[in-house]
Amino acid sequence: MSKSKPESSFIKVKCDECGNEQTVFDKPSRNVLCLVCDRLLVESTGGKGKINVEKI
Ligand SMILES: [Zn+2]
Repeated sequence: MSKSKPESSFIKVKCDECGNEQTVFDKPSRNVLCLVCDRLLVESTGGKGKINVEKI
């Protein structure tokens, strides 16, 4: 990926368990869970989060 983008941003993801669409920070300081079903959507890694579900 060589496109220049802001250092950090918000992304929209879709939970694959319940279909909930949620806006999340792409560098979360803690794990991000689905607000509906508590599935782990984005894992905190200290840098760019590891996204476990589909980006939309
Ligand atoms: Zn969910």
